[in-house]
Amino acid sequence: LAQLFRPLDLLGMVYRTVRQGLIDMDAMFALVDTAAEVTDAPGAPALAVGEGRLTFDDVSFAYDAERPILKGVSFEIAPGGTLAVVGPSGAGKSTLARLLFRFYDVTGGRILIDGQDIAKVTQTSLRGAIGIVPQDTVLFNDTIGYNIGYGREGSGQAEIEAAARGASIAGFIESLPDGYQARVGERGLKLSGGEKQRVAIARTLLKNPPILILDEATSALDSRTEAEIQGTLNAVAARRTTIVIAHRLSTVVDADEIVVLEAGRVVERGTHRALLRKQGLYAEMWTRQASEREMEEA
Ligand code: ADP
Ligand code: MG
Repeated sequence: LAQLFRPLDLLGMVYRTVRQGLIDMDAMFALVDTAAEVTDAPGAPALAVGEGRLTFDDVSFAYDAERPILKGVSFEIAPGGTLAVVGPSGAGKSTLARLLFRFYDVTGGRILIDGQDIAKVTQTSLRGAIGIVPQDTVLFNDTIGYNIGYGREGSGQAEIEAAARGASIAGFIESLPDGYQARVGERGLKLSGGEKQRVAIARTLLKNPPILILDEATSALDSRTEAEIQGTLNAVAARRTTIVIAHRLSTVVDADEIVVLEAGRVVERGTHRALLRKQGLYAEMWTRQASEREMEEA
């Protein structure tokens, strides 16, 4: 009988989640697929985040058993470090982020945070420790203050304003006639891609997670806006363990390590300079994008 009720429960949960706007659309689709499979182990403890060391240990994954997506991916990010993941579209980059958030369980290997297998701790504690700045930020038909404040339930006006300052959007908001009470969304103010991105960054600042994922967080922006936001993102990523999934390689040159993912495998790894010397896939992508940058600037 419990089986029968499950789809309805799930629909209710998805509806509430969307209504509260707790997650982005990508996350919602992941949830529809998986909420019934990913469960807390009985008596699972909460994740205890210490320094914030993140380890992918020989991780394999398939959405459908016939088609493996990730094939033995390993990397480690030291506390506060930044790892960049680059590679062709469809390589499995966003899948890494979904696995870390435990929208799905790995089919092989383990993901560890400070030595704890993320499959063995409560999902609430895991997701509380991770912030994602997604590619497309969903805004609600509400005030801009609400849209920022929902990064953390119960945050006060002073905290919202501090987060807005941290995300370099406070000046813009203060210039609006209604300030933080200005309505955004379909029936209100239309924000540009860059402004929406800053709202997402402000939310993440409020959440203040020890682990951060930027999934092509600036790919929808033109390169000037991207350059403006990059400084803000670098500040957010500083002192936090960060995975940057990037399309534009110019945003990852300073990463501690760059992992090149192709068809679910790590095919190259190293610093920007080491990878250029190697003259492999990364160097090829870099050269191609450099000539695109020149054309854009011309
Ligand atoms: P990237 O972010 O590198 O572009 P993704 O991690 O999003 O790649 O996707 C990797 C592969 O997994 C792609 O071939 C994609 O079609 C497939 N994929 C993504 N999500 C699902 C899903 N929910 N079900 C089945 N296949 C999926
Ligand atoms: Mg992706």
